[in-house]
Amino acid sequence: MGAIWAVIQTEKGEPRGVSYETIAGGQKLAAALGKPLEALVLGAGVAGAAEKVAARKVERVRVIEDPKLDPYTPDPYTAALRLAVEAEKPDYVLFPHTYQVRDWVPRLAAALDAGFISDVVDLRADGGEPVFVRQPYQGKLNADCAFTGSGPRLVSFQAGAFLADDAAKGDASAEIVAQPVDLSGVEVRTQVLETFQEVENKVDLSRADVIVAVGRGIGKQENLGVVEELAAALGGQLAASRPVCDNEWLPMDRQIGSSGQTVAPRLYLAIGISGAIQHLVGMKNSGTIVAINKDANAPIFSVADYGIVGDLFEIVPALTAKVKEARGA
Ligand SMILES: Cc1cc2nc3c(=O)[nH]c(=O)nc-3n(C[C@H](O)[C@H](O)[C@H](O)COP(=O)(O)OP(=O)(O)OC[C@H]3O[C@@H](n4cnc5c(N)ncnc54)[C@H](O)[C@@H]3O)c2cc1C
Repeated sequence: MGAIWAVIQTEKGEPRGVSYETIAGGQKLAAALGKPLEALVLGAGVAGAAEKVAARKVERVRVIEDPKLDPYTPDPYTAALRLAVEAEKPDYVLFPHTYQVRDWVPRLAAALDAGFISDVVDLRADGGEPVFVRQPYQGKLNADCAFTGSGPRLVSFQAGAFLADDAAKGDASAEIVAQPVDLSGVEVRTQVLETFQEVENKVDLSRADVIVAVGRGIGKQENLGVVEELAAALGGQLAASRPVCDNEWLPMDRQIGSSGQTVAPRLYLAIGISGAIQHLVGMKNSGTIVAINKDANAPIFSVADYGIVGDLFEIVPALTAKVKEARGA
């Protein structure tokens, strides 16, 4: 019986948060199919990351250590995983759907002649066969996808499809084994000159625990102070719907949605946001969603856990005062 592998993406030697989401999704798939789940960490200087991952409920952690794997470039990553998959023959290989994964995993699928179902938001087993749910057309449809033919089968999970906190811990640390692959003959055809962020001081909202998002209901840029204060009181990040960024009231890197960032914080406040589908696809996986809107029929309320119907200029300052009071600030 082939195993399920959860591939761990690291950054500065640490597992990225989304990698724990991959483990959580892998645990769900392993339970549904009765197959063992293993983690695979690849990089250089990733022993510490492997130890952290070994604390989660996985059968073992395989580690591919090679100087060619740092910094990330697609040739050695593709070669390393192709060699490991050919040697060990896992049935499923799971990834977080990150920019890095989008760069190299399609190549891996081609190199292995394997199927790749990407950007998956959920999974289930129908009669013992796994079904993976994707949301094409900017989230307008749910599409059930299944593999045909034999493995290996590659799957990537959308950020927030599974929660990192749901990645169960093991009773004891899992064994860590070196996965030998020979990358000596692999030509690295790209050279990383500099790592930079697309926008200066870009905020990575995908890491935020609390997001206070503001929409066109705020009216004008001069009114933003009211939501900034709430974000500060909650220790959260400020984000926005597209019109707010299009109007340059906030920079583009704050935009949530199909043409912005996809986020899944523990708490998401949607203030003066109607809840268009292009916005919802970027935030609907958030833990708790609170919507404030003066229109009781606004679609945002369909995904909200708590809804407040009313004028944001009355509600938000009152909420900020309560948060400050509760925090003793
Ligand atoms: C190809 C494409 C890509 C897109 N990508 C994105 C994307 O990435 N992200 C995104 O957000 N949108 C995106 N959009 C735009 C999207 O379709 C919506 O137009 C947009 O999300 C609407 O933003 P909004 O909710 O802030 O504004 P509106 O739809 O205008 O809603 C404003 C809301 O504020 C409420 N309101 C007004 N005043 C108050 C008040 N005083 N107190 C309380 N509530 C108030 C209103 O009732 C209303 O519900 C995209 C569109 C297309 C076609």
